[in-house]
Amino acid sequence: MEDTLLVVNCGSSSLKVALFSARLERLASALAERLGQEDASARADRTSVPLPAKAKHEDALAAIVEHFRYTGVMSGNPKAIGHRVVHGGEAFTAPSLLTDEIIAAIEDCASLAPLHNPVNLKGIQGTRSLFPDVPQVAVFDTAFHQTLPQHAYLYALPRRFYDDWGVRRYGFHGTSHSFMVSETARLLDRPTNSLSIISAHLGNGCSMTAIRDGKSVDTSMGLTPLEGLVMGTRCGDIDPGLFDFLNGKGIQADELNAILNKESGLLGLSGSTNDMRTLVDQADQGDEASAQALAVFCFRLARYVGAMMASLTALDALVFTGGIGENSARVRQDTIALLGLMGFQLDVDRNSNHGRESSQRIDADGSRFPVLVIPTDEELVIARAADQESRNA
Ligand code: ADP
Repeated sequence: MEDTLLVVNCGSSSLKVALFSARLERLASALAERLGQEDASARADRTSVPLPAKAKHEDALAAIVEHFRYTGVMSGNPKAIGHRVVHGGEAFTAPSLLTDEIIAAIEDCASLAPLHNPVNLKGIQGTRSLFPDVPQVAVFDTAFHQTLPQHAYLYALPRRFYDDWGVRRYGFHGTSHSFMVSETARLLDRPTNSLSIISAHLGNGCSMTAIRDGKSVDTSMGLTPLEGLVMGTRCGDIDPGLFDFLNGKGIQADELNAILNKESGLLGLSGSTNDMRTLVDQADQGDEASAQALAVFCFRLARYVGAMMASLTALDALVFTGGIGENSARVRQDTIALLGLMGFQLDVDRNSNHGRESSQRIDADGSRFPVLVIPTDEELVIARAADQESRNA
């Protein structure tokens, strides 16, 4: 049985695990959900994996590893383990081999991502106790954006906020955006270090990044993953004056934070769903609120494409990825329709016939810029990084 690489991605109440061969072929995938709740459950590919009631991240991890062993897809220990870590602050510009010092540095970044880093650390502790001798590597969502120039990452706030507390724009989805660079380079047969693209990662969370000469130079998310585009349940950009206004209406900071993260975006606007498929269906059946939500989503996207142009001197491609970017021909069409003045033109057939899970050009022959759809694979990026970094162990 050949060597394997394990990838672990802990969310607040979920856990994704992927197993790759040493040649980076995906061997198995597992997902545990509703962790900590009575009805916690897990599946590995199409099979249910039994979990105890109120299973925690560590319990689910152990059960999934046990399942991989039982089914024979993994024998012995993995060669290396890669972890998604959401916030690396300014300390991490690349994947890092985990040591006690690095773990302490990730803990230090927790104040910047209190919902994410502590739960990422649970995954790290879980695999450290299951596989104490296996090299483990942290891959940070923020690291790819550490090349942002100062004018793109500073907020126009009193400077002491940045100096004392690190208040600045960090950006997220870095593994996906960096994968877009390598995949676009491969598709267009270009070296990555001379490639300039705008990458739109549109999943439940959405972000857009301007990439110049292979490096991130502007991105739509900020100190937290709340800024920028409209998302499934997150508001994206709003007027900060809203805080005082809503405070006057009796809505306190905690409640407001929950509203902006969990009750806004497509869900807030439509009043019924954060799922793009349902939203488009409802809009097509005449539901006005859903049509408005779709329009706000696409307008914000188009507006950000314009904003990203300020950081580029050339554009090799606009790239769509993530569950919405890869699958919603409607969102791509309605967005590109707003960008005619910049010379973007979509080929309607190429756009609607785009095959799922394949990379493809969808621009019309006369378009000034290529438009691509590329399936993302953040777990593959993490497996690749774990493999490379563990060689230094
Ligand atoms: P996450 O950020 O949780 O990884 P995904 O990348 O899976 O999320 O994206 C989830 C979004 O993708 C949802 O809004 C979902 O409706 C949308 N989506 C998935 N498949 C389709 C499809 N065929 N058409 C339109 N939207 C889709």
